[in-house]
Amino acid sequence: MTQIYNFSAGPAVLPKEVLKQAGEEMLDWHGSGMSVMEMSHRGKEYMSIQAEAEADLRELLNIPANYKVLFLQGGASMQFTAIPMNLLRGKKKADYLNTGEWSKKAISEAKRYCDVNVVASSEDKNFSYAPTQDQWKLDPDAAYVHYTSNETIGGVEIFWTPETGNVPLVADMSSHILSRPMDVSKYGLIYAGAQKNIGPAGLTIIIVRDDLIGDLLPGTPTMFDYKLQADNDSMYNTPATYAIYIAGLVFKLLKARGGLAEMEKVNLRKANLLYDYLDSTDFYRCPTAKENRSRMNIPFTLANQALDDAFLKQASALGLMQLKGHRSVGGMRASIYNAMPEEGVKTLVEFMKEFEQSNS
Ligand SMILES: *Cc1c(COP(=O)(O)O)cnc(C)c1O
Repeated sequence: MTQIYNFSAGPAVLPKEVLKQAGEEMLDWHGSGMSVMEMSHRGKEYMSIQAEAEADLRELLNIPANYKVLFLQGGASMQFTAIPMNLLRGKKKADYLNTGEWSKKAISEAKRYCDVNVVASSEDKNFSYAPTQDQWKLDPDAAYVHYTSNETIGGVEIFWTPETGNVPLVADMSSHILSRPMDVSKYGLIYAGAQKNIGPAGLTIIIVRDDLIGDLLPGTPTMFDYKLQADNDSMYNTPATYAIYIAGLVFKLLKARGGLAEMEKVNLRKANLLYDYLDSTDFYRCPTAKENRSRMNIPFTLANQALDDAFLKQASALGLMQLKGHRSVGGMRASIYNAMPEEGVKTLVEFMKEFEQSNS
């Protein structure tokens, strides 16, 4: 098999061990004679798969008992709509931090349902940093405060937890959930599309404090009702069964590797390897403010943009794939999620050094 390293922002690399196990279990899951894809979601085999996935996720993130875990469909983008519908709870205003493309999408969707107060924005510097809490203008009457804790496109990560008093804190953690330990009890709601750092596309995970659900905006579609989904164990209709199964295998692997504290150490080593090199040369440049440098998504540019195409071509010839940056930032972006091996980052940095030498 060809050895490649996939730096895609999402859908993204999955752990080889997980894909191998899924392959082995493809035709016959645990002697059932069936693929997980073929199972009734109401059968005891599949129910056990989903229950175990939830239990393992609760253990990994240390999720308190008064939080519901939902396995839904529709992507993180559908949550941009579902969040105001569920969390406004009779209020007319919500606070949003604007740190990039995903924040902007969440804001523009929320504006359809309420008055959005943008507490702070980093648009002035092309979303290359995150405003610190002392710059936020919070509204004490807001129904909730929403922020994007890792902006996948700009590579801007917020390492501190905002303080919002009694106003529930809501975070889009799509691209860095499970990359390090975090305190779920500080949040009202956390959501993440699976296809970045969890598993296959088609699954979205929502972790929500149970006292916040059940008071819906009038007209909310049934499928968007968190309370109904929670009361039905995310099986009001057919869940994304196969995606949940793969996510469950990923959770087991993370536990076996020592959990999120261990993942954080590895992720730090991987990110530092690349950032340290980027800072050591003028040939490449990283636009992100040092205090907000994402450990998952690392954008960088070449000082001489005329070399971009050659860089990408030579990288992919070596099996270093999907390094082209997002059009709003330009240049390159290396997404190095949990499943990216350290060897992949080392190989990338070696290639970048060689490319620098032969082009300067
Ligand atoms: C990818 C991404 C989304 C959108 O996810 P979909 O599942 O495609 O809707 C939202 N927020 C962040 C931070 C993302 O990285």
